[in-house]
Amino acid sequence: MKRLLIGILVTCSLVGCGISQQQEVQMGQEYAQQINAQLPIIQDPELNRYVNVLGDSIAGLTKRKDLDWHFFIVDSKEVNAFAVPGGFVYINRGLIERADKMDEVAGVLGHEIGHVVRRHTVKQMEKEQGANVGITLACILTGVCNSGIANAAINIAGGAVFARFSRQDEAEADQEGFNNVVRAGISPEGMVTMFQKLLEERKTRPAGVEAWFLTHPLEEDRIAAIQARINQLPPATLASLATDTRNFHIFKARLQSLPPSPPPRQLQ
Ligand SMILES: [Zn+2]
Repeated sequence: MKRLLIGILVTCSLVGCGISQQQEVQMGQEYAQQINAQLPIIQDPELNRYVNVLGDSIAGLTKRKDLDWHFFIVDSKEVNAFAVPGGFVYINRGLIERADKMDEVAGVLGHEIGHVVRRHTVKQMEKEQGANVGITLACILTGVCNSGIANAAINIAGGAVFARFSRQDEAEADQEGFNNVVRAGISPEGMVTMFQKLLEERKTRPAGVEAWFLTHPLEEDRIAAIQARINQLPPATLASLATDTRNFHIFKARLQSLPPSPPPRQLQ
């Protein structure tokens, strides 16, 4: 872990804190390796194929289509999704199980892809001189921090603390997400219905969506902004976009047939 932190700091001092795409990818690979070693990642080949085909169909049409995108399902019943620089996107089983249609999962992937396309985490690293983000992540994933925040973070399946996006970042990721799914021929209405569902659940059972709200500030105004853009689409265009597929329901049924998610891991 020390190696990773030093890597980021050196990168920073050598190039005045500008992080190149090559450095971003290398960093992302190191993060992903550690995340995959620490979090319960679903290994089922069919489930992974589905989420990667769907993710690639969206990411492959963005201006960062040259990245080698990877999509992983975290076996956690809590709702969350997060992206690591370089094109590594994680979506929790709990989020997929709450989705009723393909366009809802696609909307969340489109949003996470949007964070990577706009380099939000990389920009945070550059701004914070590369230190804070790396240290927070190291802290969570290595279990060296025994503070309340670290416990909360690991309990909600990781990924929470190291990429806290601003409201501005969220608005940008929504805009990107909207464009990303429309470009892929998928309806952006799933973003609206999924986000509404999460806001509803926050009122009735906040613990299950805590991680999502911690990392992705979400209020009614974001939903209204997406809806406003949907209203501007020509009706014929909107009608031509896919909202659901049979494959999505096969995928979801297979996911739900897995044994229950492991309990959240406590820090040692
Ligand atoms: Zn976000």
